[in-house]
Amino acid sequence: MTVEVRLVPCLSDNYAVIVRDTASNMVAVVDAPDAAPIMKALDEANWKLTHILVTHKHADHIQGILALKQKYNATVIGPRAEAGEIPTLDTQVAEPDTVEVGSLRARVFDTPGHTAGHICYWFDKEKLLFSADTLFALGCGRPFERPAAVLWQSLLKLRKLPDDTTVYCGHEYTLSNARFSVTVDPDNAALKARLAAVEKARAAGKPTVPSMLGEEKATNPFLRADDPAIAAAVGMKGADAAAVFTEIRERKNTFKA
Ligand SMILES: [Zn+2]
Repeated sequence: MTVEVRLVPCLSDNYAVIVRDTASNMVAVVDAPDAAPIMKALDEANWKLTHILVTHKHADHIQGILALKQKYNATVIGPRAEAGEIPTLDTQVAEPDTVEVGSLRARVFDTPGHTAGHICYWFDKEKLLFSADTLFALGCGRPFERPAAVLWQSLLKLRKLPDDTTVYCGHEYTLSNARFSVTVDPDNAALKARLAAVEKARAAGKPTVPSMLGEEKATNPFLRADDPAIAAAVGMKGADAAAVFTEIRERKNTFKA
């Protein structure tokens, strides 16, 4: 095993994720919603931060960067397209760049939609995907800066990755997402079973992140907008996938769990 991973809950529902390369002892955090819980997790593990990998410019993903950089002198890596709005970036990246953390290597994917410059990190050997606010467990980010159809194309890019990919997303939104998902994919038995599992986990105060990409492909309606069952369930039989995706994304905006 060359990688160790720790999930760090931050703020009300954000996650930062710490990744350590055991070969080099280099340590990266993916996103920095809040410095204090990240520092605490690093202290407890006796790890020293060397890299901060940023996915997008939103405050709840970057506001801990400065304090972490000051304490650890970590290298800050993030999306070139949002460099002007993430003032502490040392290295700007975009697809098809790669990022190295010791012996670990991540490929960068451009995944516009939630923000125009959002990127995801894919550690191909370890099969770890950091999808932040593009792909959530049973959901996807709200397309603020690009049309839903563009976000759909970004999600298709992530859907091509192997089923045994471990997916770390940026928020604990899974319960609300699961309750919504069954409204647009009501006959999906795997989804119903997952809703029950998510309810149980949340009732016990456990995180639902990470998830496996294979289970997202089977149950996440935002990865399944080209499935005829979903088109039929939302009254859009025969419509193209981007239109179905746009419809279910809009329904999610007004859904109350
Ligand atoms: Zn965001």
